Amino acid sequence: MKLSQSFVKTLRDAPKDETAKSAKFLVRAGFVHKELAGVYTFLPLGLITLKKIENIIREEMNALGSPEIQMTALQNPAPWQATKRWESERMDIWFKTELSAGGELGLGPTHEEPGTAMMKDYIKSYKDLPASFYQFQTKFRNELRAKSGIMRTREFLMKDLYSFNVDQAAHDEFYHKVERAYKNVYDRVGLGDCTFETFASGGAFSKYSHEFQTILDVGEDTIYYNHDKSVVLNEEVLNDEILADLGVKRDELESCQAAEVGNIFSLGYKFSEPLDLSFSDKDGKKQLVYMGSYGIGVSRVMGVIAEKFADDKGLVWPETVAPFKYYLVAIGEKAGKLAAEWESKYSDLFLYDDRANRPGEKFADSELMGLPFRIVISDKTLDNDSLEQTNRKTGETKLLTIKDFLGILTHV
Ligand code: ATP
Ligand code: MG
Repeated sequence: MKLSQSFVKTLRDAPKDETAKSAKFLVRAGFVHKELAGVYTFLPLGLITLKKIENIIREEMNALGSPEIQMTALQNPAPWQATKRWESERMDIWFKTELSAGGELGLGPTHEEPGTAMMKDYIKSYKDLPASFYQFQTKFRNELRAKSGIMRTREFLMKDLYSFNVDQAAHDEFYHKVERAYKNVYDRVGLGDCTFETFASGGAFSKYSHEFQTILDVGEDTIYYNHDKSVVLNEEVLNDEILADLGVKRDELESCQAAEVGNIFSLGYKFSEPLDLSFSDKDGKKQLVYMGSYGIGVSRVMGVIAEKFADDKGLVWPETVAPFKYYLVAIGEKAGKLAAEWESKYSDLFLYDDRANRPGEKFADSELMGLPFRIVISDKTLDNDSLEQTNRKTGETKLLTIKDFLGILTHV
């Protein structure tokens, strides 16, 4: 992509109303635009980054054999009334709206209710199970406090997956597969080393649920861990019972701040019972469907990556989610021609800074935007048949011959 194709301008100063480091840099670098507190537009570079994260998640969900669908944001109150989650006293984050023809609708904060109600049309017999589906969808939540930029917003992208099984044993098997898929996701987006599966509060059908928590100074949650025993748990479950279950003593645990980047739930009959999602078993007997739900906050993951890796100069993206691998700067006419050629041939790899700005400004913007490598070609380097490559993360610069570089390009 040519930078001039984007209307976005980088900002020298951070917006005053953003406190999180990631939010300041994401706005300054032109990845997002703030509309309201907790409501952000994803600009060209930001959207490519978000889509790269989305695609990694999509590949891992497809590998589970689960199909992708797209449910509606507008919510029929009926299934929510059946589970007693329509009243704002029970669910305090609803955005609700009136139909002009009369009646109320909600904007989906999550999709257990419509997903369960929908499956009544497709699950009749044990032969229809197991079943599952997932989606990427904008969720709406009237959060009391929007904070930390795109890490807690009132409108955000979630991947949600729902599973339907004949019984707990079949459910547990799928649940473990999802655990492994989630580990792959966090590894692939670059958060593997600092993301842990934690014990969290369960709900009606299992003692515990699991969350995926990324260690982060500005994270909203406190987690407790013991390295040697590979035990990590959330604050809300820290009691004598879990310590006994996990075989660990209170004074063997250390604590730190973390951000919840995903969670997985054994729902059991919590939704299938009130919504009467059932099947006839081999003996023709009616049985309730055993359910699970599995979420990843896609836009929060992007914020957490930004927050985790940024340095004092700007963003630092892992290669797998960076909007482009190379930030390309050309100095001089001959270099400009070659840069335009590379950009048109490998438009997914290069962000070519073709603006009329001074090189110093381009270098500063390349650091702010945080692509993995900056490539500088000038008429002088070209005379030596070489280019300069700088690693954003380490700051290390090296000279490469054009031939070697083109060799690397054709291998990515
Ligand atoms: P939290 O405890 O952070 O409010 P939650 O327990 O409400 O999250 P879920 O309802 O299970 O989370 O949502 C699934 C995932 O969506 C979470 O693990 C988190 O990554 C993300 N998420 C939840 N709320 C928000 C929000 N307001 N903004 C951005 N991402 C969110
Ligand atoms: Mg919440």
